[in-house]
Amino acid sequence: MLTISTTHRPATDLGYLLHKHPDRVQEFPQSFGTATVLYPEAGEERCTAALLLEVDPVRLARRLGRSTPDFSLAQYVNDRSYAASSLLGVALAGVFSTARSGVCKARPDLVEQTLPLEIAIPVLPCRGGPEIARRLFEPLGWSVVAEPIALDEGFPEWGDARYVQLVLTGQVRLADALTQLHVLLPVLDESKHYWQGPDEVDKLLRSGGDWLAGHPDRTLITRRYLGRRGGLTRVALARLAELDDRDAAVDEATDAPAEEEVRPSEERRLPLNAQRHEAVLRVLAELGARSVIDLGCGPGQLLGRLLKVPGIDRVAGCDVSTRALQQAVRRLQVDRMTERQADRLELFQGALTYEDPRFGGYDAAVLMEVVEHVDAPRLDALERVVFGAARPGAVVVTTPNREYNVLYEGLRGRRHPDHRFEWDRPEFAAWCERVAATYGYDVERRGVGESDETHGTPTQLAVFTRKEATDA
Ligand code: SAH
Repeated sequence: MLTISTTHRPATDLGYLLHKHPDRVQEFPQSFGTATVLYPEAGEERCTAALLLEVDPVRLARRLGRSTPDFSLAQYVNDRSYAASSLLGVALAGVFSTARSGVCKARPDLVEQTLPLEIAIPVLPCRGGPEIARRLFEPLGWSVVAEPIALDEGFPEWGDARYVQLVLTGQVRLADALTQLHVLLPVLDESKHYWQGPDEVDKLLRSGGDWLAGHPDRTLITRRYLGRRGGLTRVALARLAELDDRDAAVDEATDAPAEEEVRPSEERRLPLNAQRHEAVLRVLAELGARSVIDLGCGPGQLLGRLLKVPGIDRVAGCDVSTRALQQAVRRLQVDRMTERQADRLELFQGALTYEDPRFGGYDAAVLMEVVEHVDAPRLDALERVVFGAARPGAVVVTTPNREYNVLYEGLRGRRHPDHRFEWDRPEFAAWCERVAATYGYDVERRGVGESDETHGTPTQLAVFTRKEATDA
């Protein structure tokens, strides 16, 4: 069982957000049992929704039988019916799928708000003990109470079981809380119930995209989530590293012995994301840019680097996502900046497919890993807005090289679920040439990252410089 409570007023808004009416008891059949949603309390001041999962051990054993050829007693004797296992994570994801995706027509404003939430799980298998529960949830903004449960109350000398009673309290978006639980319940669980296919990496990135890349224990989480399949773990970590500039150091402390070998050479290499930052900064230095706008700045990693460059005295970041901008404000510690530092920086929300005077007046603009997030039919609008209207002296564009994808073991499809397309080298070259010719720029292309003889570099980069003659 898992309960979600709120003291938001009116607390019964929880029913709208979860898309489950507080007055009803609803059952949702699962392939391994039945999930029931009910509200033990539903008042103005406090409302609690409970998700109760009854596991049918016979059905579960039959399901397992198909994918586990060897007879194992664990198929028949296990804790699945009694603890909040990874099965609860699956049921939660299914039953609250709309809430998890952050959709609520009745209370659209509430979806984006953080709410006072309390999540309680009376019996949680917790591989690594209460300390692990704290390490996983605290960085996400939760206060964590994880009480170990005695193996047998009659025999205290036997010590604790591997279960804890977990209570999380925090001011968190409900959709975020649900995706975090969806990922972290199987991570805490000792025995995974289902085989992981290659699309598990996409699923993980979709659920974890916003918070996992910056989580200090992302390696541990990824490794445990994907189970014993080292190839998938490597792909997921490489792709997560693209979303964050922290080094993807493997964390051995609590998970020994290591279930997967992550090749040491890969660990020590500078993550691709960091190599991209270096490459862009090098180009900006070559150009001698003194004012730079980062278009589609995301959570502001490059902005942080730009602010440290002495020669650059004006930095701007723009993104369509307000959540990314909030992360940037936190990352850059804008509230702790001196007035002079703050004067150098401008952060604003805007869409690159609509003309905006705020985009204009910079020596250089950066479009780092952004064009592939724009629907192909809207790309011409972005070209017009950036190259036609804003017309910075230079534009630095980076984007993945699709040819390189075959070198990511286990990757099927695109590197990130939000990518609308990924170009091979000839496609990127053709785009660059057309845009340069249309808007009066010169263009030069380079690769970023380790180059493969056949497939090229993982990232493609282009530097557009405005032809002054056509500008006049
Ligand atoms: N440049 C950052 C982020 C890349 S992710 C980096 O390299 O780390 C792509 C970013 O583009 C996301 O933050 C997304 O919100 C933003 N984005 C996508 N479409 C956009 C649009 N039409 N206008 C502005 N930003 C957009």
